[in-house]
Amino acid sequence: MGEDVETLKRRMPLIEYLRQHNWKGSPVGHSEFVGLCPLHEETQPSFYANTRKDVFYCHGCGQGGDLIRFIQLSRHLSFRQSLACLDLQTTPSDDSAAVLEQTAAFYQQQLHHYPEALSYLNTRGLHDPVLIRELDIGYAPGGTLRRSLTAQGHSFAVLRRLGLINARGADALYRRIVFPLYKGQHVINLYGRSIGSAFAHRFLPGGKGGLYAWEKVRNCSEVILVEGLFDYAALRQAGFHNVTCSLGTHLNADQFRQLCEGERTVYLTFDVDQNQSGQQAAEQLARRLVAHGISARRVLLPEGHDPNSFFVQGGDAHQFQTLLEAAQP
Ligand SMILES: [Zn+2]
Repeated sequence: MGEDVETLKRRMPLIEYLRQHNWKGSPVGHSEFVGLCPLHEETQPSFYANTRKDVFYCHGCGQGGDLIRFIQLSRHLSFRQSLACLDLQTTPSDDSAAVLEQTAAFYQQQLHHYPEALSYLNTRGLHDPVLIRELDIGYAPGGTLRRSLTAQGHSFAVLRRLGLINARGADALYRRIVFPLYKGQHVINLYGRSIGSAFAHRFLPGGKGGLYAWEKVRNCSEVILVEGLFDYAALRQAGFHNVTCSLGTHLNADQFRQLCEGERTVYLTFDVDQNQSGQQAAEQLARRLVAHGISARRVLLPEGHDPNSFFVQGGDAHQFQTLLEAAQP
């Protein structure tokens, strides 16, 4: 393990990784750069990257360490997940992108062969075939992907590295509705929603990228932000086009930056759950957005609802529009 970590770190120096993630540092001395900290919000640069020691330190938030530590902190991953993520990013990627695209295509073909998948979509109120195709929604039945991909000439090692199969060689996504996540034209990850009793949400190792379908809404002056892809799909199906999704209530740095990149009003439409976690997250995010000059409004759904269940249980576009208009700063 120790040796692997060192090999990985040699393949990707910290400064290189930071630059690839749009960090801008100015040189100080022979082997140091200073810039704004990607781990906390600040206006004066206090984040130092040392190229000789291959480590960073921030005098603002007090965080420091090597690249693996940086990935852990910036992406909220465990040590192991960070290694997997780095491995994915540093291995020649043309193969990876192609395999993920073939996987997404394979899952899309499966969708219509499994009544349980279609009936699950139906219970989540998703029935518009045009939208299902547009979002490239598929189904992972489990037990079939590995055979299909190895028949197309992909090695076990590649599938394993992408997290498509587990250590025992079985398909990692099993009985899950699959939404591919794109960066530009490329599939960069897959989200799998369990239709059975398994843990509800699953992603492959590696980043989720920015906000879902951000390209479509980046020029909108009003954007509805939801936390789940089924919420996204429900709103799109109801005729709302200015929707995006953060895939959870915690926004990563890229996603937050996207929301802040122009003048706009963001309608935060998180779940109204019993433990209040969705609403607390919305309140916090609203405050951060306002601090960055973005107008934020919290949409209050009826108790116990998320945007998906709101529509599934009979809510319509007109009623949702009324909620948008009643949204509070
Ligand atoms: Zn910091």
